[in-house]
Amino acid sequence: MINDNFSAAELLSILCDYAQRKLNLSPLDRIAAENNLLSYFKEPQRAIAQDSQGKDLQTDILDPLLSIAKAEYLWREDSERILCETKIMGFVTPSPAVVAFRFDAIASNSGIPSALDYLNAISVNSNYIRMADIKKNVRWKTPYCGEKGEIKVTINLAKPEKNNRDVSLDALEPANKYPACALCVENVGFAGSHFQAPRQTLRVIPIWLADEPWYLQFSPYVYFEHHAIALSEVHRPMKISAKTFTRLLDFVDLFPDYFIGSNADLPIVGGSILAHDHFQGGKRELPMFSRPFTNTFDCKSEEDGITDLKISIVDWYNSCIAITSSNRSQLQAAANEIFEFWKTYSDEKTSPKIVALDKNGEHNTVTPVAVKNGDEYTLYMLLRNNRCDTANKHGIFHSPDDCHHIKSEGIGLIEAMGLFILPGRLHEEFASIKKVLTGKISILDAMQDKSLDQHGKMLSALVAQTNAVPVNEEEAQNLIEAYVYSTCEKILNATAVFKNTPAGKTAFIKFLRSAGLPC
Ligand SMILES: [Zn+2]
Repeated sequence: MINDNFSAAELLSILCDYAQRKLNLSPLDRIAAENNLLSYFKEPQRAIAQDSQGKDLQTDILDPLLSIAKAEYLWREDSERILCETKIMGFVTPSPAVVAFRFDAIASNSGIPSALDYLNAISVNSNYIRMADIKKNVRWKTPYCGEKGEIKVTINLAKPEKNNRDVSLDALEPANKYPACALCVENVGFAGSHFQAPRQTLRVIPIWLADEPWYLQFSPYVYFEHHAIALSEVHRPMKISAKTFTRLLDFVDLFPDYFIGSNADLPIVGGSILAHDHFQGGKRELPMFSRPFTNTFDCKSEEDGITDLKISIVDWYNSCIAITSSNRSQLQAAANEIFEFWKTYSDEKTSPKIVALDKNGEHNTVTPVAVKNGDEYTLYMLLRNNRCDTANKHGIFHSPDDCHHIKSEGIGLIEAMGLFILPGRLHEEFASIKKVLTGKISILDAMQDKSLDQHGKMLSALVAQTNAVPVNEEEAQNLIEAYVYSTCEKILNATAVFKNTPAGKTAFIKFLRSAGLPC
């Protein structure tokens, strides 16, 4: 811990030293930043602190500064603490233009991966990505390999849970809110409020996708390594179209080490923000990428001028087509043809039925994901359908009702590819279940806890597995993880429009054949 006797001015000097070292704040900008901070803290002049090296940003610098700031009434309510902290860090984070300029310079001199490492480091060191919070997320270490490969689970303690109703309401938010949504580029430098996150430390890189201005930033939630977001400059709803495929392929041309994908553009099967056109990507560590292709069809056709195009079914839980080619225009044309065909495709013989259109509107869409290996592109198209019926009022191809105690949110592209981000409430609830399994409390006492009501079936199943004999901590943890993993597997299978059964596979091939594929 830092010496309590450091004055505000000395702490600000230590913070500016940190910014020069860790954020590449230039000496000239440091003078201005320090003066802005002194003004904010109503300090008349700067003070040189001795021994400023090796200080932890949060505990040694920000926490004591925030205590002083509270005493000075710069913030009052607990919810304002983060606003004050981000404002302080905003003073010492290099300006958006400086970061973008440096990103380009590093990309030119050392290559794109180094430039991305730089942007990631700025995002972490400015506390925009709050690593201390991210580290609280629970990532299960025990690997799970199900019927169709690995599934990964993270219990997310850094972000609140959203249900489908919240997502639908978000899509209806009035357009006059400023910034219009959490993704808008107008968030750069935004001070935040009780309802909106402060973004003075957000830094974005301008990019061009399909001849339109977009921006690249890192996600503050870091679901996987280099979890990045690309967002349209224009606040407009998510809409999958031929242009989406062009934009995704433009993105992997710019950043070939990353995958990039768009959530589907319909509620239930889309992500948590449908109001703003955006993509998510990053390093390719999601389980689906390690799965082999089956049923690969070579679509070469002299008549149609197709020289290089393969279409495969991915050996994965849900229904995923992989289109591979080193010829971008041939790949894009095929992707659009399949997408347009899928949008209108119904098959009433499948179980459950696939219905593209009914009185509630269109139901078919895709979750597209692009990667590039050398000169070869692969566009994954996860086929999605968001229809509901009386028996499945939350969605037929959605997490089944008896899995909602684990995951009720829409299955967006990250989960659809095998990485489950589970709600933070589960951490405490699983801890209570563990107490029952290890014999620390009785099942009757545990059920006094209302939050465990929803897990009644899970609790009974696990107690039955142990024959009601207490097990040790590790065994209890393994039992909980196995139950949750198999639930995630069940959810992924539920999202499959063509089931992994002989009849489902036949229906999948029938769809591809109807789309004009040589299969
Ligand atoms: Zn927006």
